[in-house]
This record gives sequence, C-alpha cells and structure tokens, in this order.
Amino acid sequence: MMFLQREKQITVTSPALAGRPLPTKKASRLRFAWFVLGSVFGAGLTYYVVSVIHNDAEYSKDSRTTRAFALLESAFKPLPALPVPTPAAEPAPAPVAAAEPAKPAKVVLPAKLSLSVKSGDTLMSMLMDKGVGHDEAYHALEIMKKVYNPRKLGVGQAMELNLDKSKDDSEKASITGLSIAVSPLKTIALARTADDSFSAKEIKAPITKGVSRAGGTIHSSLYQTGIDSGIPAQLLGEVINALSYDVDFQRDIKDGDEIDVVYERMHTDKNVTAGYGNVLYASLTLGDRDITIFRHVSPDGFSGYYNAKGESVKKALLRTPINGAHITSSFGMRMHPLLGYSKMHKGIDFGALAGTPIYAAGDGVIAEAGPKGTFGNYVKVQHNKTYATAYAHTQRFARGIHPGVHVKQGQVIAYVGSTGRSTGPHLHYEILVNGNQVNPSGVKFRTGQTLSGRELASFKREVKHIETALTDAPRKTELASLGN
Ligand SMILES: [Zn+2]
Repeated sequence: MMFLQREKQITVTSPALAGRPLPTKKASRLRFAWFVLGSVFGAGLTYYVVSVIHNDAEYSKDSRTTRAFALLESAFKPLPALPVPTPAAEPAPAPVAAAEPAKPAKVVLPAKLSLSVKSGDTLMSMLMDKGVGHDEAYHALEIMKKVYNPRKLGVGQAMELNLDKSKDDSEKASITGLSIAVSPLKTIALARTADDSFSAKEIKAPITKGVSRAGGTIHSSLYQTGIDSGIPAQLLGEVINALSYDVDFQRDIKDGDEIDVVYERMHTDKNVTAGYGNVLYASLTLGDRDITIFRHVSPDGFSGYYNAKGESVKKALLRTPINGAHITSSFGMRMHPLLGYSKMHKGIDFGALAGTPIYAAGDGVIAEAGPKGTFGNYVKVQHNKTYATAYAHTQRFARGIHPGVHVKQGQVIAYVGSTGRSTGPHLHYEILVNGNQVNPSGVKFRTGQTLSGRELASFKREVKHIETALTDAPRKTELASLGN
C-alpha cells in the first residue's frame, strides 16, 4: 500500500514525468526504478522504526549507563530547517536556446506583475515570456547572482515584477524592479539604476526578540514531552544538560512530572520564528521536588544557570579526590620515571598509602571499572555530557562499583594501589572534557560557585522579574513583559 502510494505520488508530482509524454517502454522502466527505490526506502524506514522501538524497550528494562546520556545525545539533534520551496527540477535553458525569438509579450506597459514559478520555469524564461529581451534579462540575472542564485527558486515561489517600455527597443519590455520573498526572513530586491544597469540586494525582515514559554506533563519521556510541548530541540538539550547535575534522568523522572521552560525566540513582525536565543528559566517538578534554574550572565561575561538562591547548578568536581595526599607529579611534560624519556603527563599524581580510599569527584555514572593496560585497575566516572574523571593504578574497586552504577560526589569508588605501569602506590587522577584530559588546575569553567554581594542582588531581581511574569501566565504563551 505504502509503495503504491509512493509510486503514485511520484508519478503525479515529478515534473520529469508530468511535462512531456514518454515512450511507453521508457516510462515503465522509470516507474519500475521508482518502485525499487520506494521499496528500499520503505524497508529502511521500517528497519529504523523497529530499531527505535526496540531501543525503547531496552531502555525500560536496563541499560543504566547509557540512558541519561542517550537522552542528552538525543537532545542535541539539530533544529529542523525552515521550510524552503522545492527547487524547480528543470535545468535552465542553454543560452543558445534562449536566443530564439521570445513569444510576443501581451503585457501592457508599464506593468506591475505578480508571478509564480511553475514547473519548468526559470527566472530567465519567465522574464523573457513577459517580453524582456534576452540581453537585459541575462544582465539582470548576472547582477542578482551577486546576492542570490535564481536556480534556487522553487515551484510556487511568488515574485513581483515591474516592467516599463524599453527606451531603445519598442518591441521589448524593460525591468524596473523585481522583488522575490525567498523566505519569510529574506527578500531579494533588484532595482534599475540611473545608468540603466541594476542593483541587487538582500533585505532581511526586521527581527524582534520575544520570550516564549513551553512545557507540559511528562508521560513518555522528558525529551519527548519537551519536544511535543514546543520547546525547541537545541534549547531542550541545553536545559537537560543544565539539569543533569541535579537530576538522574533515568531514576528520578516519573509519569506525571512536569517541565516548564522560558526561552528567547526571535521572530518577524508576521510572527515567523527566525531563531532562538537563550533559555532564561527552566523548572522540573519531580513528585514534590522542584528543581528550578535561572540563567545569569556575570559581570565578566560568563553565563550559567543558577538556582533561585544564586548557587551555580554546576557542581564543582573535587580537585583532590583523596584525603591526606600530596601531589607527586602534576599535569604537563615530565621525564617519565619508568620509561626514562620526556612524555606528556595527562593527569595529576597523588602519593598516598596503598588502600587509601578514593572518592568520586562528583555525582555521575561509572563508565568504566576494570583493568586498562598501563593504567592498571582503572575507574572512569561520567559526570554529564561534557565532564568525566578517571582514576588509575588502583589496588581494587569499592564494593558495587561496576559500569552503569550511579555514584555520589565523595562516595568511595576505589582504593589507592600500584597496578599497571607504576613505581609505587599513588592515584593518577584525570579530568576529561569531551573525552580529552585537561589540566585540572587550569580548568576554565566556573563551577560550584555562589553569587554574592551586588551580583547576587541583581540576580535576585532577575529571578523576581521572571517569577512575576510566570505567575498566572498560561503554559504556552508569549511573555510580553519579559521581551525587550
Ligand atoms: Zn600519573
């Protein structure tokens, strides 16, 4: 059924088939090719749908390691592009063909015409159909190409064309202006200049920054609810990431919980979305627990999310995940004690007695726990999409530490040892940002800080402002009082 429909659709809409009659044999071969293509696509789609359903089923059973992060991953899908008219399938006629005498123009000049691109049209052919001479039409398009490629025009695309009598050829029409709204945000305008040439420019629709609110009650997943309620995917990803310091997305979210997000939306005067700005506020209601975050930009230009008390949602990672230890080797180039040559040391070594407990530097999920070559017994904790920490040469792991297990900051995960390539008992500690080791003492992010003084006072005013705007405002609405 699906295949038949697909084939039918193509037969109707394809300009290649619609325009001119095809020899029966060629046509049936073409239909067969479309059918095969349709079948392959259909089968692929079915496989995809089945695999998605299958994955979902797996999530509900187990797969503790991946779910929260898969959720994060999925939250980072790109925003769907604005609808663009489909390109006209017919190629532009060759200049030779265009040189043939154009049909006599029935247009009474001067004229202001509203045109629409039909299948097989090119801008060149449209202009010549209206009586514009080949050379002038060609010249006008050359100028237009500086700002817009007329081949991008799609069937149904509307335009305004102004024509007048040509000064030097009474048979021809002359372009005085051409305007094409190629998207709700962009108009291409071609105008005649005093020296009988043309100028072309791209006119952007004026954009206003507004504030929108979206959210709903979670029934399927947080991600799905967010998308269904109209939160833009890229912003939802940001919200999920910001909340990931406080929320265990696999365990904490239950049916009936709620999400509420306030964000900036750029739009034209016709209310067409032109893009999105920042998330200003997000709230997650988990049973009787409320997690609310507000965006704040510090005077030195760092932006981040804070709770209503002005505490950063980013929890600082412990810089020393062990008690009573001293640094024996810092991050950077060093002469390797065993290899005898200079080598990059991508972590910090803490000298400590064998058996000293090692703490998780932050809340997270055990990503790895097992022997790992020269690292010996190695543990890696993934804290969120961006940050992870790793602990090497451990003697043994704490009880219950396995991949997929959730740990809290300060929880004992392993004990100092000298396994792998090691000269004596020590902890080799790494902070990884997007999978790359960074110097913990040089990490640039502002984490775990609390606003104070004048900054806290101004933040509290921002919070009050948003809370006031949200009171009694319906869920899905424009918050005019927060707009600029
Ligand atoms: Zn080391």
